[in-house]
Amino acid sequence: MVETQLIHRGITDQRLLAVMRRLPRHKFVPRHLWGQAYYDYPLPIGEDQTISQPYIVALMTEALELAGPEKVLEIGTGSGYQTAILAELAEQVFSIERLAALARQAEGLLAAMRYRNIRVRVGDGTLGWPEEAPFDAILVTAGSPQVPGPLLEQLGLGGRLVIPVGNQYSQILTRVRRSFQGDLKHEDMGGCRFVRLIGAHGWQEEKGGGEWF
Ligand code: SAH
Repeated sequence: MVETQLIHRGITDQRLLAVMRRLPRHKFVPRHLWGQAYYDYPLPIGEDQTISQPYIVALMTEALELAGPEKVLEIGTGSGYQTAILAELAEQVFSIERLAALARQAEGLLAAMRYRNIRVRVGDGTLGWPEEAPFDAILVTAGSPQVPGPLLEQLGLGGRLVIPVGNQYSQILTRVRRSFQGDLKHEDMGGCRFVRLIGAHGWQEEKGGGEWF
């Protein structure tokens, strides 16, 4: 997985590659999908949600430029796989999941794997986690019509925010940087397709199609 899917496509962050080499991705997918856990596509994790494709996880994580001491906010805990990677690369991870069943399952697994620097909360991640702000890095793992205002407010000076922005069928992976002077710069990192970010500053709850990757 690491050689063919990540290194050959240009992922170079050595700390990230080392973590993805040893983290057991199969533990984060349903047992009947263990045989496909390291393949080059997303997989269903229940509740109509998916664990992202390994390359997308790597691309988004690399874009956060984590060096070790960061406080990170993640929106969309899902399986907890991305959460574990962030916890290996940064000091503290705060992760918000809208669906309680997924949050509880991820929390249980991450605790069993002995992560002590992760906190999981059930709620609307488009509102952020104001009590813990500011964050050095913010990662949103669901697609949004726009960058939620509260997340921009909770991004610290020098911070990086990565989020898929677009309609419900396709999005542009977008990185927002806040300079040390405070101004924001948006960068386009290419196309992607995620399940919808549902919340006050994302999509409305009403049913729509296309929620499968
Ligand atoms: N990083 C996860 C991706 C899961 S898919 C993984 O690789 O397993 C995206 C997740 O975002 C889903 O679990 C979905 O329930 C969650 N989500 C959608 N809108 C949300 C919101 N407003 N706040 C928090 N989580 C949200």
